[in-house]
Amino acid sequence: MAAPAASPPFRIVHTVCSHDCPDSCAVLVTVNDEGRAVKVEGDPSQPVTKGFLCGKVAKYLDRVYAPDRILYPLRRKPGVAKGPLERGREHQAFDRVSWDEALDAIAARLREISERHGPESILPYSYAGTIGVLGYGSMDRRFFHRLGASQLDRTICSEAGGQAWNLVYGKKFSTPTEDVRLAKLILAWGANIHGNNIHLWPFVEAARRNGARLIVIDPYRTRTAAVADWHIAIRPGTDAALALGMMHIILNEGLEDRAYIAERSHGFERLAERVREYTPERVAAWTGMTAAEIEQLAREYATTRPAALRLNYGVQRCENGGASVRAIAMLPALTGAWKHRGGGAQLSTSGAFDWDEDALRRPDLALASPLGRLARVVNMSQLGHALTELGQCRERGTKGPTEQEDGPPVHVLFVYNSNPGAVAPNHNAVCRGLMRNDLFTVVHEQFFTDTTDYADYVLPATTFLEHIDVQGAYGHYFVQLSKQAIEPRGEARPNVWLFGQLAQRMGFTEACFRDTPEEMIRQALAIGADGHSKNANMEHITFEDLEREGHIPLAFHSDPEAHPFLPYASGPLATPSGKIEFFSETLAAAGLDPLPGFVAATESRWSKVAERYPLELLGRKNDNYMNSTFANLPGHRKMEARTSQRLEMHPADAATRSVADGERVRVFNDRGSLELTAMLNPSLPAGVVAARLDWAKLHPGGTNINALTSERLTDIGGGATFYSVLVEVAKA
Ligand code: SF4
Repeated sequence: MAAPAASPPFRIVHTVCSHDCPDSCAVLVTVNDEGRAVKVEGDPSQPVTKGFLCGKVAKYLDRVYAPDRILYPLRRKPGVAKGPLERGREHQAFDRVSWDEALDAIAARLREISERHGPESILPYSYAGTIGVLGYGSMDRRFFHRLGASQLDRTICSEAGGQAWNLVYGKKFSTPTEDVRLAKLILAWGANIHGNNIHLWPFVEAARRNGARLIVIDPYRTRTAAVADWHIAIRPGTDAALALGMMHIILNEGLEDRAYIAERSHGFERLAERVREYTPERVAAWTGMTAAEIEQLAREYATTRPAALRLNYGVQRCENGGASVRAIAMLPALTGAWKHRGGGAQLSTSGAFDWDEDALRRPDLALASPLGRLARVVNMSQLGHALTELGQCRERGTKGPTEQEDGPPVHVLFVYNSNPGAVAPNHNAVCRGLMRNDLFTVVHEQFFTDTTDYADYVLPATTFLEHIDVQGAYGHYFVQLSKQAIEPRGEARPNVWLFGQLAQRMGFTEACFRDTPEEMIRQALAIGADGHSKNANMEHITFEDLEREGHIPLAFHSDPEAHPFLPYASGPLATPSGKIEFFSETLAAAGLDPLPGFVAATESRWSKVAERYPLELLGRKNDNYMNSTFANLPGHRKMEARTSQRLEMHPADAATRSVADGERVRVFNDRGSLELTAMLNPSLPAGVVAARLDWAKLHPGGTNINALTSERLTDIGGGATFYSVLVEVAKA
């Protein structure tokens, strides 16, 4: 439905929240006759947004009009060392320059460094600071491909789980969010729905009003766990064991859907053989649950219909994360839950949005780069390593542990849509790298962050109110157009403009570098001569419809009452066998375990490291921040004050260390340490401590929990292992 009209002198503009959240809310922005946004609200006509916004974005104008927004390009003053700057005085380290000066100087450095060290010495670093299709990856990718810069493997959040899911189902589809209201059981697995997937919550509440039970599996008693019918506080990283233990009981008791399995799946017999070893007693020893609880959970899940499983992203951020997601994803296949409307599972709906990424990102431009090929790939979850070790031996002409690594050291880091100085694992290694005098760092940002403190140039970035974009979602099935509501503040500019301008200065003559955002939206939609999209599930969409309506459902979700969407219930799948894969020939061919299994992490209570560092650290996200975004805003910090800079400990673990509630403690391991205030929390499993992610520069000690996390990778997808971390705690 088109955005409602406002009475003059106001107008209402349809935008989309581009923060990294499954809900991708339709946001109506009221703008006054001076061009100032005066109100943001959820669009009541969008069936998932339902007219409300979360606490983070309801106050969004505090962010857009914050007095400390970066509004102009900045260049580090000569002689000012890189490193943490005093909060509120960061601007003193920089000189204001014009965009022309900044772009000319950056282009000159890129050219010089590319010629001297090779273009792969340039590393872009970006993630989901915006998930708009253009903002996330379009002109930037064209630019870096044409330059021959290293490619970034964007693994930090969802790659392990995404690949794991696709090994089972081929593509990421989910139970439609609106259908969860029909479920009779909702199993929230590592999913703090009330905290960070708030638009699913009304459907959970509707289901509960109709008698559904909510069970939450989470080591931490989140807001969602606190109001659940049953909260199961399992030990971190033991999810695969629990899922396999549930399968053991389901198969032992004949609760599986034999007909569905026979028709729709591949490798069932081998899975059945594997789960035999996952007896309730063994699984109880790993998870900290009782055997009776595991049996109750398995029976309740397998015998309640419809049963909806909401699996969220934290589960995959363990060494065993890929196997965990695979095992959990197989549960609805085993019970046939996909057949029932309101049943099934949700990880992500992103597989349904078939954007024309090649047209948008133009990987073919790599052939025109000085390399004449696609560049090497650097894993973003190992940024510390990339900045301090990658290619160093080659540079020195010596042999060493990294001699096998391809390509030159990184000499340029170009950061946008991300704040690696706060969010990247192994913070101390990242900072050592960022401190290098021979590293040229550019950061495109809205605010001074942990990363801008190390920048040679800081460039002002727009918010989603200040540019146009198109967006899908990973929590619903609507294509949405985010119109530009207001002029950019100061000289802030969007990613598309920035990389288009840099391309001109680098002398790239390809016409695609002059494409306008609207042209690029049409390319993403693959608009054909008849005005309609050629993308799967979007054939009914025209740009003009989207402009008028704001949001349009994908084809299979156009009339959910008449034609409900039941993912994986029928038809061939995009897996090698065309079926749901319990057994993966792909993994077998790669010499990996083709079946999911539980393997204790290198850093877990069962490992040798635990002799020195016996406590498992849960580095938690904040309900009112988006990773590190919003952490600088006073109103948002106030909402997180209760657990901010606290270390939550089980009373037994505190007593062993003679630590009292409210005392200062030091949390440490071989990678680093930080001081926090102890806060006793009996709802945590014993042996587990929890602390929240914050900006390093907002901690008195100038560091954050990523000083403790490692660059070890997940079993599938090369993801970060934020939740496989051991520490010790002592009085400060
Ligand atoms: S952060 Fe999520 S819930 Fe909040 S407004 Fe954005 S999309 Fe909606």
